[in-house]
Amino acid sequence: MPISPKRSIWPGLRGRNRHWKGAERPMAHSRSSPGIRIGIDLGGTKIAAVAMRNDGTVCAEQRIRTPRGDYSATLAAIAQIVVSLEKAANCSGATVGIGVPGAVSARTGTIKNANSEWLNGRDLRGDLGHFLDRPVRTANDADCFAISEAQDGAGAGAATVFGIILGTGCGGGIVIDGKLLTGPNAIAGEWGHNPLPWPDVAAGTAELPGPDCYCGKTGCIETFLSGPGFAARHKEQSGQSLTPEQIVAQARQGNADCGDSLGRYIDRLARATASVINILDPHCIVLGGGMSNIAELVTEVPRLWPRYVFSDRIDTVLSAARHGDASGVRGAAWLWPAS
Ligand SMILES: [Zn+2]
Repeated sequence: MPISPKRSIWPGLRGRNRHWKGAERPMAHSRSSPGIRIGIDLGGTKIAAVAMRNDGTVCAEQRIRTPRGDYSATLAAIAQIVVSLEKAANCSGATVGIGVPGAVSARTGTIKNANSEWLNGRDLRGDLGHFLDRPVRTANDADCFAISEAQDGAGAGAATVFGIILGTGCGGGIVIDGKLLTGPNAIAGEWGHNPLPWPDVAAGTAELPGPDCYCGKTGCIETFLSGPGFAARHKEQSGQSLTPEQIVAQARQGNADCGDSLGRYIDRLARATASVINILDPHCIVLGGGMSNIAELVTEVPRLWPRYVFSDRIDTVLSAARHGDASGVRGAAWLWPAS
């Protein structure tokens, strides 16, 4: 079996297939499906992967450092992971799904908006598909989170799930009847760069025009609800440089400044999710990312929804993620339907 990729259809690697020397090529997708799905979470610093059975149990997993800045090496690393996971799971022809940073352009299939900038403009799905000799599915990492939680996580059984990542940024994804919602711009669920709704202009909390955002606008939801945003807004109000964990811990111990910051965060999250409820009316909203560890969010935010949601009754459920850090790989694996 040849070990080099089909160079003629690999514009990004033409003449550079030496990266594949010695690399073992995974076996082609077989007609007899093994019932094993491989999910890969391609992050800026690490690549995590699992081989999963149809019932959601994990039979093998792997984690390596991302070859930063080197696209060819990234492809080779992913291919090697597929080889070793198939060996470990004693199968061949597993389905492969990959969660990627940024978005996958519906028009060109290339990656855009990735903070791992060496991936931007690359057709990861096509290039890997040719080398692995099987179709590969890709989705944004927040979309993978939403799929994972909708499939067998906190949103299992809910017809419409809005999955939110409150981490270094604010991502989101929408799953309807088990299917990821994708649109022509590949940004469905990207609520983080909408403006914070119902800005509080009276309390001197600097919500209007709001903080500068890296996207070029001001007052984006992400500048208030991401972890760094929470810490930055607390510093603005109190002059204290604390981590989100410290702010929450001190708020629970009765510190007034920290309590005010946590209260504002909860109200802002209530407003930001209420505007989504008014448009999408999801059955379940699942919170992920580091900030979702704040237990008060799932209890306090729904209490505030009646102030903002345009309905006399609100049956939307707010839940914390079930799968935590594993949602990236699990969602990528679920990009393929059960076989
Ligand atoms: Zn923004």
